[in-house]
Amino acid sequence: MNNIPSESYKGNILIVDDTPNNLRLLSNMLEEQGYNVRCANSGAIALKAVVIEHPDIILLDINMPNINGYEVCEQLKLDANTAEIPIIFLSALSETIDKIKAFRVGGVDYITKPFQVEEVLARIENQLSLRRMQLELQRAKDQALKALKQEQELNRMKSEFVSMISHDFRNPLTSIQGFAGLLECGGNIPPPDIINRYIGKINTAVDQLLLLLDEVLIIGNMEVVKIQYKPVKINLKEFCQEIIDTLKCSLANQDQICFTCSDETTDAEMDSTLLQRILINLLSNAIKYSPPESKIYFDLEFQNQIVRFRIQDQGIGIPLENQSKLFEAFYRCDNVGNIKGTGLGLAIVKKCVEIHSGTISLVSQEQLGTTFTISLPRYPHQDCSMFNEYSSS
Ligand code: ADP
Repeated sequence: MNNIPSESYKGNILIVDDTPNNLRLLSNMLEEQGYNVRCANSGAIALKAVVIEHPDIILLDINMPNINGYEVCEQLKLDANTAEIPIIFLSALSETIDKIKAFRVGGVDYITKPFQVEEVLARIENQLSLRRMQLELQRAKDQALKALKQEQELNRMKSEFVSMISHDFRNPLTSIQGFAGLLECGGNIPPPDIINRYIGKINTAVDQLLLLLDEVLIIGNMEVVKIQYKPVKINLKEFCQEIIDTLKCSLANQDQICFTCSDETTDAEMDSTLLQRILINLLSNAIKYSPPESKIYFDLEFQNQIVRFRIQDQGIGIPLENQSKLFEAFYRCDNVGNIKGTGLGLAIVKKCVEIHSGTISLVSQEQLGTTFTISLPRYPHQDCSMFNEYSSS
């Protein structure tokens, strides 16, 4: 009922009449015109037939034993699933049809027996085309509502993002202002080690700002920061180890990340900046969303011409209902609590993976942890999606 019929589709009609001759006559007439026809010889059978498959229109005799046509119509109109099916009543000329009642219970038209072929066809076609228009209108309305909802959601995310970004920018700026103020000491020059410490703080804050700006620009406008893909020869084992060493500096538990790579030869050709972005984002998330005493397992594995990076944490996990939106910019899961973030990291990771023609997948369970697996072609111009069971897209 809800599908818009194809060009060749004429309509699915249910005829309900307790007189076999009428059923035969009408069904032959309609089948000849190309309609799909089903017949029911009582009100009870008609109600069951409608549930099995919704017809596009029902031709319903009024005078039937047990449940008459009006009652069948009333029952169908009470159920939201069948209320929209147009019903044309059938009645013999000799019977007095209560037209007011027919329309009041929900009928859209009526036909009197004996049937005039042209009249029956015209009335059916009239109702079917009305129904088609209704369905098209409904579909257009649904689409408009969906677009409106998406627009509202996007606007909500944008305003959330603006307030989050302003907050994230404000912190390092306040820090720069504070330390610059301390250096502006009005004749009292602080000792060199203090000056160096303040300058160090200012530099860290500037780095933070640059990183944030970089992320916003990458996501906000790929054209502004034109992501360059420049594959270079890399020893992946050494590369991963260097990234871990950098991250270790900020870790309370220096042994939190357990790195393994059992392969001897670990050379590959990838864009080192993009790969660094991928790994730093995933490892930082693993650290950020896990308790400091928990372990993070980072495995590097080579399989044919595919390199697999697996990062497994024992953190808060990602709720199942949030997983489908995870790679959308600005998206953060419901369980982040007070943990800070912009919701940009994974969107960037996904883009960097795609630039390498790779895939990203995850397995996660709330309270137990998350495993991200990235598969990248070992050398450029290979596509590794065919080797993977899941992909990010
Ligand atoms: P954020 O800056 O918020 O960390 P990301 O884009 O990196 O942004 O991640 C998007 C969201 O995915 C996070 O806000 C968090 O809800 C969830 N997430 C990402 N990685 C993990 C992880 N390892 N464990 C639990 N949740 C994670």
